[in-house]
Amino acid sequence: MVAATSDASARVQRTQRFGEGIGSLRYVSGQRQQALERLGLRRVRDLLLHLPHRYLDFTNVTSIAYADVGQDATVVGVVDKVQLKTPRPSMQIVELSVMDATGVIIASFFKQPWLAKQIHVGDAIALSGKVTFAFGFKQMKAPFHEVIGPGEEASAYARLLPVHPVGEGVSASWMRRIVSAALHDVGDVCDPVPSELVARLGLMSFARALREIHYPSSLEAAEQARRRLAYDELLTLQLALLTRQRVALADIVPYVHVTDGPHRQALVRALPFQLTDEQQAAVQEILHDMASPYVMNRLLLGDVGTGKTVVALMAIAAAADSGTQAAVMAPTSVLARQYAEKLGGLLDAAGIAWALVSGSTPAAERARISTAVSAGEICCVFGTTALLSDDIDFVRLSLVVIDEQHRFGVNQRLALRKKGSAADLLAMTATPIPRTLALSVYGDLSCSRIRHRPRAGAGITTRVVAPQSTDLAFGAIRDAVAAGHQAYVICPLVDERDDGHELDDVPERSRSAAKQLHAATSTIEDLRRSALRGMRLELLTGRMSPDDKDAVMERFRGGEIDVLVATTVVEVGVDVPNATAMLIYDADRFGLATLHQLRGRVGRGDVAGTVYLVCAAKKGSPARERLAALEATSDGFELAELDLKLRREGEVLGYRQHGGATLSVCDLDSDEDLVVAAHEDARAIARDDPTLTEPLHGALAVECRERFGAYFDEMERA
Ligand code: ADP
Ligand code: MG
Repeated sequence: MVAATSDASARVQRTQRFGEGIGSLRYVSGQRQQALERLGLRRVRDLLLHLPHRYLDFTNVTSIAYADVGQDATVVGVVDKVQLKTPRPSMQIVELSVMDATGVIIASFFKQPWLAKQIHVGDAIALSGKVTFAFGFKQMKAPFHEVIGPGEEASAYARLLPVHPVGEGVSASWMRRIVSAALHDVGDVCDPVPSELVARLGLMSFARALREIHYPSSLEAAEQARRRLAYDELLTLQLALLTRQRVALADIVPYVHVTDGPHRQALVRALPFQLTDEQQAAVQEILHDMASPYVMNRLLLGDVGTGKTVVALMAIAAAADSGTQAAVMAPTSVLARQYAEKLGGLLDAAGIAWALVSGSTPAAERARISTAVSAGEICCVFGTTALLSDDIDFVRLSLVVIDEQHRFGVNQRLALRKKGSAADLLAMTATPIPRTLALSVYGDLSCSRIRHRPRAGAGITTRVVAPQSTDLAFGAIRDAVAAGHQAYVICPLVDERDDGHELDDVPERSRSAAKQLHAATSTIEDLRRSALRGMRLELLTGRMSPDDKDAVMERFRGGEIDVLVATTVVEVGVDVPNATAMLIYDADRFGLATLHQLRGRVGRGDVAGTVYLVCAAKKGSPARERLAALEATSDGFELAELDLKLRREGEVLGYRQHGGATLSVCDLDSDEDLVVAAHEDARAIARDDPTLTEPLHGALAVECRERFGAYFDEMERA
């Protein structure tokens, strides 16, 4: 009993050391401490949560004599000779001769001349690769190699050696040394997750996971350890999201809406169509939230054209029936106007007063609206971020609708909500997002989904073409215009000075090597002179003033322009049903989500749309494969899942994961079960202990703060 108590108190002490500066560890001081800090490893916990990106498998080491020619092998030996050879100026080869007790093997590395300085005679080294035979010696060409620190090889023979990401001034073998020392001195810490959850999910303890992730007893154990740490990451992100929301909404009295009043009934009668079953279901979920004494936080997900707007309309009706107000914020004035046009007539028919506010609303009109909103005479206001300005002062704002919500900064979304004390939130997005990502990144939002369009629509055909085959696309554009339709030509850059920093962050391997990207300003001149001569071409880019953009869109909508040469500004929700053809230059420079949104601009009317993606990459290359997905499916959700598989992490379909709070351990593709479990567990914990103040949750609260606190603080300040 006494032993158990002192055990426990030693453990608490170690847990405290977990949060201390990295300089408190053995072997860490001076320049090495600085080098670690440059890698972002400031505290002991950062080091122990700095996970290996691979393991060196010493369980399969063979001696050089027994390494069979033609087979893969791992050998360990001492470097006997290091040579830098330059048979041609463009070809530099580093050749190592490595010996063990049984023989010699030559390892050669190409185009990495620096290895000649990094690897020294006398170093112990592990080599892993295919064994060949030439010039009387066994050889390995470009093997995987790892220099092993003094003493490491003896203990490592029978196991897996971690290889951590390292940087300047930190070698992998030195990193192993300090990680191993830190594990020994501090690694046996308390488990932040309540043992009941750990047991139910059959996860490893935290301390064991730390040991097994760095020095695994087997590859399966390493994977189990990774899963345990991934669960921690997901659970703490969810809890951080949930608790932040509870704190922000503490002490307020939520609106309890009337959801089946005369305004809503009048609107249903005024609708020119019946809601689809999916729309009905979404409306029911939203109205249920609005009628409940809790603040609604709901995300409505649905591909372009699935009819989200009328669903939002029913929510607005509930505000009208409750005698309160609604604000609808769209990312551009074109879209805000589109809303007003689509919904204004229906609102009029149902006797609901509304207004439209954007950056270009004349001052006198704006003053009139401002007064009417403050007096509560206007129920529903459509607008852009102009809604956030002080002169738009709601008396009883009970519903905030944000369209294309990821287009806004977190601070802008918060600012609109703060215009009412306890407004319900309905966020909408057409950017498809895989279920796991929605759960993990938007864990604080409930989701409603619409998967099918109300009308099948004429549909879109997507084709990837090589740059030399663009004539095909121009033929389609000429045909469309001749038939009285319209077209888009999309370029990645505005002009030659544009450095493309606003382009999607497409991974290098998913791009072709084409150097010169198309700029809208010069492309339009080219097209006017050649392929599209005689047609009415106009430019639309993000660099134009909002008024100029509106004017061009207005003329395009009115049919006064045949072809719009644009950047991705047309991506968001622009609705011109008469547009039927689109050509996208340098398509491989855009993310799948952007391309999917862009192509959704055509084929919206009764005539089928044709989209040509111009891409210089060869058939079969990763860049081309990615685009082929767009040819294969027109379902945004299928694309989203596919994109997740293609890139696995980081930016998924334009959804930058929570800034500093990226998920680094979790693999959203293979860890779906953990995502779901963490989501449910976090909700259960937050329901019972919304501020995480119970002793049982003390360590969890610390973890949430440590991992995501700084990120949320930054958001609050923004
Ligand atoms: P999005 O989800 O992209 O915002 P919209 O709300 O703009 O889609 O709807 C796309 C089109 O479908 C609009 O023209 C709208 O009037 C029409 N629509 C919406 N719901 C229905 C329905 N239930 N039946 C027929 N047409 C519908
Ligand atoms: Mg929409």
